[in-house]
Amino acid sequence: MSYKIVPLIGEEEVREGIRQVAEKINEAYAGKELHLIGVLKGAVYFMTELSKYISQDIPVSMDFMSVSSYGASTVSSGVVKIVKDLDESITGKDVIVVEDIVDTGNTLSYLLELLKDRQPASLRLCTLLDKPSRRKKEVKVDYTVFTVPDKFVVGYGLDYDQRYRNLPYIGVVEFDD
Ligand code: 5GP
Repeated sequence: MSYKIVPLIGEEEVREGIRQVAEKINEAYAGKELHLIGVLKGAVYFMTELSKYISQDIPVSMDFMSVSSYGASTVSSGVVKIVKDLDESITGKDVIVVEDIVDTGNTLSYLLELLKDRQPASLRLCTLLDKPSRRKKEVKVDYTVFTVPDKFVVGYGLDYDQRYRNLPYIGVVEFDD
């Protein structure tokens, strides 16, 4: 099947959006320490960029976890499996989970419940992209950089069959009929 990538959100716009969300986090976490949890692999670019704009007055630590995702398909299976767990305990920490995109909500509703059981001091969710029109499970998203339409998007960490993660902008995969 042939397809093309159509730009949706430009590189500068992405960076500026992330910077603005970082400002909100800086206000909310002033005087605290912050523990960021990135969901591999999609959130890597976003987490890197976001963390650069967190105030130097807020000590930041980071960890990553990996859960099973779509594979080569663009349709969610609804099955969530922990492929790589956290390296460090989150008990008593102020945690923000950093995700690339919230789509059906299956992944995050499962992940947030699991992390809540480990008793962090607080637990919030920050996503680069949100596709609320596709939600199947309710998820409280605390910080959203961009809301996107029901299209399959790539770039800035998001892949199509493991490609395009390194696009510096966000694009839509458009399939030819
Ligand atoms: P959810 O469990 O919310 O349905 O899906 C979350 C995961 O599905 C994301 O972390 C991402 O890996 C994948 N996903 C959902 N929508 C898209 C999309 O439009 N593009 C890409 N590349 N991945 C998506």
